[in-house]
Amino acid sequence: MDYKIALIRGDGIGPEVVGEAVKVLEAVGRRFGHTFSYEEVLMGGCATDAVGKSYPEGTAEKCKACDAVLLGAVGGPKWGSDRPAEERPETGLLAIRKDLGLYANLRPAKLLPPMADACPLQREIAQCGIDLMMVRELTGGLYFGKRDRYKTNDRGVEASDLLTYSELEIERIGRRAFELARLRRKKVSSVDKANVLETSRLWRSVMHRLAKEYSDVEYEDILVDNCAMQLVRDPAQFDVIVTENMFGDILSDEASMITGSIGLLPSASIGDSAPGLYEPIHGSAPDIAGQDKANPIATILSVAMMMRYSFQLPDEAAAIENAIDSVLAEGWRTADIASPGDQPIGTQKMGGLICEKLC
Ligand code: NAD
Repeated sequence: MDYKIALIRGDGIGPEVVGEAVKVLEAVGRRFGHTFSYEEVLMGGCATDAVGKSYPEGTAEKCKACDAVLLGAVGGPKWGSDRPAEERPETGLLAIRKDLGLYANLRPAKLLPPMADACPLQREIAQCGIDLMMVRELTGGLYFGKRDRYKTNDRGVEASDLLTYSELEIERIGRRAFELARLRRKKVSSVDKANVLETSRLWRSVMHRLAKEYSDVEYEDILVDNCAMQLVRDPAQFDVIVTENMFGDILSDEASMITGSIGLLPSASIGDSAPGLYEPIHGSAPDIAGQDKANPIATILSVAMMMRYSFQLPDEAAAIENAIDSVLAEGWRTADIASPGDQPIGTQKMGGLICEKLC
């Protein structure tokens, strides 16, 4: 098959890690008989430098003409908050998610067996394994609600952020979670704060309706405070966790941390029709940019997610994941995941070793 991929290499280490991911795509293509073609898309600080806008006109259209989007990372101190919004790289990030209608953010948190020592949890908890998928609603809730700031007569200035969710928004993310669970260990934990919030009570009622429809999937409600606690007490209990935007923002970072390095964690943002966007969870790491020090594994695992969720190629996805597991099992480490005494390897060497395993 032929697949067209939009490449947003971005800033800092973005071009380095995307470069290795493209090498892996080529290796997958050779092994499984696919061809990948690429559309280079300019976005982020590099776009501000080139054309004066971090999200140039036509960016979304270029991406929509592709089957999937691979993003490295954007941003850096050069394009800080003193710049106008259109020059700031974060503006582009929010805009592309909105323009492509990417309402579901999937973040797997998996403790790779060779990395068990990097887990900050107690050894007996880490030994039970961590393999969960956080499904976060990405385009609704508090972050997109009406904001206000006004003067009161007796309490000084007051501010408010409106939290709203519609049945439609809850149902579409809920369905994503149940469908994903069917491809995994068939359990959905839905996180809310239904003992306090009306939006959470609506969330829960929609999820209960879906749970009846997906009766082959085990379902539970869990309050957000309890979920935060259970993630460090017994993460092995979770398969798919689904939640609203702000709870997901916080819980997905917590789930990432318990699995070790930021350089190992991929993500996918998907909608109903536009191409999915795949990216590592880390940023542009300006402190190590251009030094061949970045860990490319998070971006390469993002390519594995692309195979599984955009192209329905589970064997290709598993081949990439297995290649990474074997390189790590042989003891190869980039600096961010090296233990004292290890001889760390660079970005390109790590990418090359993963490609060799795919041949
Ligand atoms: P960061 O993730 O870039 O870096 C945090 C720390 O982790 C740094 O010490 C960095 O060297 C290290 N690190 C990150 N990725 C690594 C990798 N692949 N291999 C080895 N080490 C790695 O976060 P930050 O420093 O807070 O942000 C830097 C810039 O990135 C900012 O401009 C921020 O806005 C931007 N950012 C972009 C995205 C995105 O593009 N989606 C996400 C987060 C941050």
